[in-house]
Amino acid sequence: MAEEDLIRIRHGAIMYLWNMENGSPSGFLLTCWKPSNSLPERMHGQSIQKLFGYYGPMQQGEKQMRKAFKYRLYPNQTTEKRLSFVLTRCRELYNAALSERKDAYQLHQRSSCLVNPETGVVVAATMVANMRVRHVSYYEQKRDLVEIKQLREDYQEIASHVLQDVLMRLKRAFDNFFRRLAQGEHPGFPRFQGRARYDSFMYPDGAGWKLLVEEQGKKIKGTLHLTKIGQIKVKLHRPLEGRIKTVTIKREVDQWFVIFSCEVEASEKLELGYEDVGIDLGVTHLATLSNGEMIEHPRHYRKAQKTLEKRQQALSHQKKGSHRRERAKRRIGKAHRKIARQRQDFHHKHSRQLVNRYQIIVFEDIHIGNLTRRPKPKQDENGKSVPNGAAAKGGLNKSILDAGWGAFVGMCSVKAAWAGRTLIKVNPQFTSQVCSGCGQVRTKDLSERWHTCDCGTELDRDVNAAINILARGKQVLARKEPTSGTA
Ligand SMILES: [Zn+2]
Repeated sequence: MAEEDLIRIRHGAIMYLWNMENGSPSGFLLTCWKPSNSLPERMHGQSIQKLFGYYGPMQQGEKQMRKAFKYRLYPNQTTEKRLSFVLTRCRELYNAALSERKDAYQLHQRSSCLVNPETGVVVAATMVANMRVRHVSYYEQKRDLVEIKQLREDYQEIASHVLQDVLMRLKRAFDNFFRRLAQGEHPGFPRFQGRARYDSFMYPDGAGWKLLVEEQGKKIKGTLHLTKIGQIKVKLHRPLEGRIKTVTIKREVDQWFVIFSCEVEASEKLELGYEDVGIDLGVTHLATLSNGEMIEHPRHYRKAQKTLEKRQQALSHQKKGSHRRERAKRRIGKAHRKIARQRQDFHHKHSRQLVNRYQIIVFEDIHIGNLTRRPKPKQDENGKSVPNGAAAKGGLNKSILDAGWGAFVGMCSVKAAWAGRTLIKVNPQFTSQVCSGCGQVRTKDLSERWHTCDCGTELDRDVNAAINILARGKQVLARKEPTSGTA
């Protein structure tokens, strides 16, 4: 290939060279990846470490722990406009950076199977190996921010650490994607973010904001100052604790919130509990405990769900681009918000109760559980008569239930860590089929809600499963203990 036959196109960090011989690009790929030590001077040494420090994983078991405090913001017209402006720009940046990474990723894939038509030799694959094509990195994109700011003046109005955090988010999305690929899963490619999905931006350190708290008698007045945005009233409905590490501004439909992530001293652990529990998550009941107690799905779900359906229907009658349609959309957003808040309250309440009462809490690992669980609601809908109202609740939106389980287990595990409780997740396979009394396998149809066994065990199906989950959890812990003892 002669030098003049090639046209260089800079695309983010990857340079690719088109072979123009036949007038059409046949796509020979080369990289111009800069060595990693060519980071700008000011990024060296301490500042890199500092940057990493902010994103480092929370060390559990240490005295310092992170706690989030969320407060309502009351921006005026001007500041609200500016907040929206920042959010829109951040989303734009996220999508642009995503598209750059996506192109690089696809290019990488394509190049690895290119064949030179003349020789029949796989050219690009060896090139990939030799030239060490990598994915567009966070640092590469971060360096481009300087250029972006020169080209687009509106970006100068945004704190640079906020923009860096946008890229960091994207990095995390890709890290997760590649990690899951490596684990043999089939994750979805990181998605472009619409207006409704991208709803927050973050100040990852102490720069760009200031919180002023004034005490006026009994009243506590809070004001959040944000550079280039202005001051916004904060309603401090509960006291802030610890040292603020990050500040996140979040939009929920038409309301704004600030979330302070604070480093606080770990509080006193709860006294040792004498009860342990296994928990089966399900469609019929949110949770069935191994002692036979149940946590039902919050009843208001279905009412809120109905409202949501009605509003979605109303939206479908509105003309595209009309004001009424916008209003209808906002109403749907509000319905979603209401469901989310109700669910959160409910989960907080019940996870608190569980953690206060039990020392060892065993859940099924939902990621594994999902595979076996999938047909459950479907079969209920297929007209099989199911007692305990399973059929009625089977109609509940599956995604809502899914989200519900994950969030619930998440809250339990955070609270458990604070309180010094043990929470583990076990493989849920066959937990509903094995008899908790004698260990024999009793295959059951999904519609069979009762467990009967020759050994005399008579139990609700889910309680039987919960007992098995607890037993499995204790097995896992027993296996772990000797190793941790010698270590
Ligand atoms: Zn039995």
